[in-house]
Order: sequence, then structure tokens, then C-alpha cells
Amino acid sequence: MNEQSNIAASTREPVAFNAALAEPFNVLIVGVGGQGVIMVSKVLASLAQAHGFEVKQSEVHGMAKRGGTVFSHVRFGPKVWSPTIAKGEADVLIALEWAEGLRWLPHLRRDTGVFICDTKRIVPPFACRSRRPGAPMRYSTETAEQVSAYVSEAYAIDATRMAEELGNDRAANVVLLGALSTVLEFSLPEWERTVTSFVPKKTIAVNTAAFELGRNWIAEAKTAPPSDMPARSAPTQTNYTPRLEITDAWCKSCEICVKLCPEHCLELDADRIAKLVAPEKCTGCRLCEWLCPDFAIRVHLDAEQPALEAAR
Ligand code: SF4
Ligand code: SF4
Repeated sequence: MNEQSNIAASTREPVAFNAALAEPFNVLIVGVGGQGVIMVSKVLASLAQAHGFEVKQSEVHGMAKRGGTVFSHVRFGPKVWSPTIAKGEADVLIALEWAEGLRWLPHLRRDTGVFICDTKRIVPPFACRSRRPGAPMRYSTETAEQVSAYVSEAYAIDATRMAEELGNDRAANVVLLGALSTVLEFSLPEWERTVTSFVPKKTIAVNTAAFELGRNWIAEAKTAPPSDMPARSAPTQTNYTPRLEITDAWCKSCEICVKLCPEHCLELDADRIAKLVAPEKCTGCRLCEWLCPDFAIRVHLDAEQPALEAAR
């Protein structure tokens, strides 16, 4: 088993979609800018529409920028009057980021709702109490057990790491789609056809693998004996090592990151490409990633899952 946990395994069958679906089915998808929330909602809306349902979708992402909150409501059924899901009425909550998932939990149906959440943490700059490297950050401290007590069925899945192991962490949202596919009774060919129609052609192979990983992981979690699937704490670690990934080919030498890095640890090199020159000063605040207009910088917090590591 990989570094993820089911919080509460269930043998519940997927939701059957037939004439008996008298009320709209509500799926809330949440995450932060750049994670692919909208793609997940488009795949689901397209599937439901192809299945003959009326679909209403509403989303907020215009104000989000990179790193900001993004959410999308998808409602489908024989007749849907409103595009938004009221508190306590989401049948499924899919979260691409741990704290965002917890923030939206009150929207989930308490008695029957299914919560599927990536354990990925994206800590905003304002959550850093101090800019010293390794300083503690304000971040959700709720444990998986606390979440388990709140919802009927929940899965905390390390989708980002699974996607990274496939060689493309951007496929984490498709890992979650694979997980979602076990909850909703659209046929597997329908899922696969729709997912592949929404990803770039050159990434179809990795996204297909990501989808299967998510699907298989949930299937395994549902059947694993509880002793094999201990509920683990959510990641709450405070020590981390920032690592910058700079894509030279995308850097346009604008110097925004150089001028706005609070720790002055970036410079342009002789080819006028941004370089991290003082890694020991970098706090992992991610301002450079958020402010780079060309998406040339990604900040990784390498030790961000210690609770999971310790539980292995
Ligand atoms: S902000 Fe982006 S494009 Fe501008 S110098 Fe930095 S890495 Fe290059
Ligand atoms: S290099 Fe980036 S992540 Fe590191 S301190 Fe500077 S702005 Fe923050």
C-alpha cells in the first residue's frame, strides 16, 4: 500500500443512476488555483450530460490566481433548478488539497456524504509565522480520526505523490477522478473515454495510469481489513526543506522573482535565467512561484509528509 490511508473504509456500492435518481446528485470539487479543479468538474459534467442528465455547474476561480481557493459545484439529475450546492447537501466532496477539503466539509451530507481528499498540503505564504527556514506554519491540525468522526465515508489519498511517481504530479486530479469513479456508477469505458478527451494527447498514457491508480486504490481500501489500513494523522509537520524547480526554457528574465523574493535568494545568471543562489535562506514561502508570470518556478516542500512517513 502506498503512502495514503482510507479514513473509513466502506463496502457501499456505487451510486446507481437510473430513473430512481429523483433528486439532483451533488458533487463539490475544491482545491487551489493550478491544481485542476475545473478539469475534474468538466469531466464529471460531461459524463453526466452524455448519460442524459440535466447538468448545472458553477465555479469560482476568477479571483483565485495561483494558490488561491478554487471550487466547483456540479449538480446533475432528471431536472436541476439551481447550480449551487447548499451547506450539508453535497453527496460527494472531492478535495485536491487537505486544508481546502476540511474547510468545505460542512457542505457534505453528514449521514451519507463521501469525502475523497488528497493529502497534499499547499501552505499559503501568510501561514508562515516566521520567515526563518523550517519555522512552524499555521496550517490545519485536524487529524484523520477527527475527520472520520465527522463524515460517513472518507478517503485520504496521497494522490499527488502517486502522480509524481508516475512522472507527472499534474495528474493528481486524475488520480482523484479514478477514486471518484468508484463512487458514481458511470461505466468504466464512459469514464475512460471522457477523461482522455480532456487531457492533452501526449499525456493520455500517464493520465490513464493515474486514473487506474486512484480507482484501484479505493477498491483496495474498501476491501482491506482495518488492521491493514490504519487511520493515520493528517500531515501536520512543521519542518520542511524547500526545493525550487526552475524551468529555464520558460523564464523570460523579467526579474520579478528576483526583486520580490523576501530573502533575496534569487538572481539572474549570465544567460538571464532565474537561479536560486542562496538556498539556505529560502523559506519556501512560494511567492516566487505565485508571482512568476511565466509559471517557470515551482516550489516543493520536500519533507511535507512526515506523519505519513512515520506511519509506514
Ligand atoms: S519571475 Fe519567472 S520569468 Fe521572471 S525572472 Fe523569475 S522565473 Fe524568470
Ligand atoms: S526563493 Fe521563492 S520560495 Fe524561496 S524565499 Fe524566495 S520567494 Fe520564497
